[in-house]
Amino acid sequence: MGRIPQAPRKNASEKRTNRKGKLPDLTGGNCLEPEGMHIMDEYLLIRMGKAATAARRRAKELCSTCPVRERCLEDALASEDPPGNWDGMYGGMTPHERKKEVEARNERTSENEQ
Ligand code: SF4
Repeated sequence: MGRIPQAPRKNASEKRTNRKGKLPDLTGGNCLEPEGMHIMDEYLLIRMGKAATAARRRAKELCSTCPVRERCLEDALASEDPPGNWDGMYGGMTPHERKKEVEARNERTSENEQ
């Protein structure tokens, strides 16, 4: 019996950048380089324990030196609905941090309008 052909498996970074809907423009970002993809894959896949903490720290470091960090973050904050909905790190922020950032900005806006 012949081998059943299978679609190539996508790594976590490919899933992250090919998702439907509006996503931050990652063009020129560190996470599209092979080493950066590996770091983001680890961040997405390792969920528990000290290894997850270390993976999150490496992902934050990657974003902190990214030439398009500001654009990436602002894209994510403006497009993600609801805030913090997307898995993964964008602009150096975790989903929870992005949610908190949008809430803080909304709070500041409503205070300024009063
Ligand atoms: S800021 Fe982070 S997530 Fe955004 S493009 Fe750069 S490395 Fe990728």
